[in-house]
Amino acid sequence: MASSPVQEALRGLPSVNEIFESPGFELLGNSIPHELALKVVRDEIDVERKRLVEGASEEPASHDGLAARCLARLRLMGSPSLKRSINAAGVIIHTNLGRSALAPAAIEAVNEVARGYSTLEYDTQTMTRGSRHSHYEQLICAITGAEAALAVNNNAAAVMMVLSEFAQGKEAIVSRGEEVEIGGSFRIPDIMAYSNARMIEVGTTNKTHPEDYERAIGPDTALLLKVHTSNYRMIGFTESVTSKQLRSIARKHQENGGQEIITYEDLGSGVLADLDVFRLANEPTVASVVAQGADIVSFSGDKLLGGPQAGIIVGKKRFIDRLKKNPLARALRLDKMTLAALETTLRIYLDPEQAVRDIPTLAMLAAPAEEMKNRAESLASLTAKKIRQEETKVSLIASESDSGDQSARIRISVIPEVSRAGGGALPMFDIPTFCMKLSFAQEEALDCDRFLNQSLATPIVGRLNKGELLFDPRTLLPGEEEEVAEGLARYFRETPKA
Ligand SMILES: *Cc1c(COP(=O)(O)O)cnc(C)c1O
Repeated sequence: MASSPVQEALRGLPSVNEIFESPGFELLGNSIPHELALKVVRDEIDVERKRLVEGASEEPASHDGLAARCLARLRLMGSPSLKRSINAAGVIIHTNLGRSALAPAAIEAVNEVARGYSTLEYDTQTMTRGSRHSHYEQLICAITGAEAALAVNNNAAAVMMVLSEFAQGKEAIVSRGEEVEIGGSFRIPDIMAYSNARMIEVGTTNKTHPEDYERAIGPDTALLLKVHTSNYRMIGFTESVTSKQLRSIARKHQENGGQEIITYEDLGSGVLADLDVFRLANEPTVASVVAQGADIVSFSGDKLLGGPQAGIIVGKKRFIDRLKKNPLARALRLDKMTLAALETTLRIYLDPEQAVRDIPTLAMLAAPAEEMKNRAESLASLTAKKIRQEETKVSLIASESDSGDQSARIRISVIPEVSRAGGGALPMFDIPTFCMKLSFAQEEALDCDRFLNQSLATPIVGRLNKGELLFDPRTLLPGEEEEVAEGLARYFRETPKA
């Protein structure tokens, strides 16, 4: 009896053992338990079998192709997925790369509490149960001038919690100029709907006046919301209402016999230190917004604050007390490692000069361009030296008038550029910097960029720009210059060219 092409193809599928004998599998060693490796290989063969049976393809995958698929999956399983990476892109609060790097003391504190037991909810003075909020609350209040504070998972969680506690089933008024989207799924109108708050929009995209809020207030109004447009700027003919004005509108309403209305500012970035760079960028400090009288203010822990991922809510004690009792407070609470990092970062802020030195996000924001020029130049000479050791022809360009040796495979120079705050903070603010620039004789910038991302144990993320590669020293941490130079040298070692 003649068999169908499908049956032929099924019979041609390799066995599990045949796959394991393919080249490359011997290198896996003991990185993955054998039982798990077996399961992965069986899965891949099953997937191929199903494809053939369902007629998705009459052409069976080649033995080598199938083995390569198994090997790729096994390699991924055997190596860490979340790992350190080197940010040479010059975007300081790079959300894809984990936002803020922690201060050394904060890392130490995380390490300490992670290693064993801790005083997370234990009060050694009374030797009874304590509160996990006790570790940061007084610090935040001392720094911002607020009466009370609560820290939760992130600022998105903080916004949800405030709206659902104070505006559920009631009205919250927001300006049309502030209905922002902060990355994909976080949009003010959606969070309002999710929190069962009725959103009342006032004003226009570019201008909202105090009278707009006053006219919109009714018997069901519970909250006036102000959203800091941290990730974009409107320029030109614009006007918005400050937290101070909102507070005065709410007070007048109450004085005229109306209900109490809460004013809440979602401040986003969370500036704690009064630095020149924030003043230049017109970014208000949390303390200044608290001083304007806002009942509640919330902000992120890992944006301009430079700490761990968290959402910090500060404000009048009686409102924060209500939030602490909200069921979401338990669902959104911080773990001990985050609390350790947050407490230590806040403690550093007690001395603002130390904060600019020790908190990497602040140090990166404040470092002058001149310092970046020196660092870019030493990075360029170190890189040129290491690449030369790989017998690759390199031309190190000393000045703008020098165009370098065009016959070299690679030309290295230092150019003026701009760094960015990132993380949806200070969007219009150019931070002058200097970058190391790599220009290639042939088109290989993309290959080199791929290598740095995909083939190194610690990926290096630079900036690919019009066929050239840029490396901004501003976002490199101590010791990483050496790693960038070494990673580039490895690229030339492993991809020799005529
Ligand atoms: C970033 C931001 C958020 C979200 O904060 P996460 O800490 O990322 O959850 C909310 N509101 C504003 C205005 C922001 O800038």
